[in-house]
Amino acid sequence: MADRSFLDWPFLDDGHRAWARELADWVERGLPALPTPDEHDLDAVYAACGALVRALGKAGLLRACVPAAYGGLREQVDVRSLALGRETLARAGALADFAFAMQGLGSVPVSLFGNEAQKAALLPGVCRGELIAAFALSEPDAGSDVAAMQATARRDGDGWVLDGTKTWISNAGGLADRYVIFARSEGLDRGPGNRDPKGISAFLVDAGTPGLDASERIPVISPHPLGVLKMSGCRIGADRLVGQPGQGFAIAMGTLDLFRTTVGAAALGFARRALDEATARARNRQMFGQRLADFQLTQVQLGRMCTEIDAAALMVYRSAWTRDVLQRRVTREASMAKMYATEAAQQVIDAAVQLHGGLGVVSGQPVERLYRDVRALRIYEGATEVLQLVVGAQHLREAAA
Ligand SMILES: Cc1cc2nc3c(=O)[nH]c(=O)nc-3n(C[C@H](O)[C@H](O)[C@H](O)COP(=O)(O)OP(=O)(O)OC[C@H]3O[C@@H](n4cnc5c(N)ncnc54)[C@H](O)[C@@H]3O)c2cc1C
Repeated sequence: MADRSFLDWPFLDDGHRAWARELADWVERGLPALPTPDEHDLDAVYAACGALVRALGKAGLLRACVPAAYGGLREQVDVRSLALGRETLARAGALADFAFAMQGLGSVPVSLFGNEAQKAALLPGVCRGELIAAFALSEPDAGSDVAAMQATARRDGDGWVLDGTKTWISNAGGLADRYVIFARSEGLDRGPGNRDPKGISAFLVDAGTPGLDASERIPVISPHPLGVLKMSGCRIGADRLVGQPGQGFAIAMGTLDLFRTTVGAAALGFARRALDEATARARNRQMFGQRLADFQLTQVQLGRMCTEIDAAALMVYRSAWTRDVLQRRVTREASMAKMYATEAAQQVIDAAVQLHGGLGVVSGQPVERLYRDVRALRIYEGATEVLQLVVGAQHLREAAA
């Protein structure tokens, strides 16, 4: 079995170690009872994801996604608990990680910036797995370039009217009950070319709201409920504004600051599973009169994989600890952790496929699945290139100061 010694690292406390045992126990006893859908059968993917959210909620594992006042694990949403959750679940199955992570990503904007009524209406249901959450930021022409957002929120009487299209939205396509939607509300008179980040606001919107069409699904390379959100004269009340008008960009970036580290943790879970699979294969496969594991070239490969995994884990838990304990903004640390862990996981998984030979590309083999599961992580919540730019620019600002 793979190394669990990272649980003794000083980044974690006894509460985290108890949480890790709770997660591991559920992965062993609860997860195998749930369906594992084929990614081509979208109805099955959506049904399985809904079942996973309910099961995680019933088992109490979504407590990591909300603050203690709403049923959560700790006073504030704790990045280390989320990271342990994602790492443990991803190691067992990508959809379990996804179901867990989205309850956090879709509700943290409200935990961090919402008012009391919004928190009370959303967070207990999210924690119990009874309300499914989603985070709608990206658009067809505004992915990496978030400030190019075109969706609008026009004031109308005592409420707002939303128009525009969001795409690549996890849990859209019929699963989410609530969406946090970002749209341009201020400076509308400056036209669609307006790129002022201070013009963006965030809104908490019910899935059934007239004018909101979330029916279109996007099939992707691994089981992942993903869809398009179309808003056409979608009227919502003034009470749906999260935070202040114009605070949406800060809300989105504050949420991503917290979640990017956990994307690194999910990648780490995939990489650890790939190492487990590669180690077992190398120990059992006979060739040229000895085991694959007996070749020095194999040992070099495994040595590289172990080192990449430890380096990624150090970055992930350093970033999580910095945010939780030092309570600092971790734009730099989280960007590093996400880019390093996702790129490292891709290499580790590729090496695991190679060590399996032909078996590594057979559909349904764990390493073949991992090869597909890890790919999107290098793109969403900040592509590697964007994160390199973030770290490099911050470094230059600090050097100039
Ligand atoms: C599986 C999946 C789930 C997702 N879930 C959500 C979700 O729940 N909510 C949501 O809002 N969005 C979601 N997204 C969207 C995701 O965040 C975007 O795909 C991502 O931000 C990239 O945007 P884009 O796809 O428009 O690519 P583009 O912005 O077109 O970027 C394409 C590529 O250009 C490169 N690039 C970008 N900027 C630069 C630069 N300055 N210099 C050089 N190269 C650059 C990068 O390599 C990048 O990958 C999801 C995406 C995927 C794949």
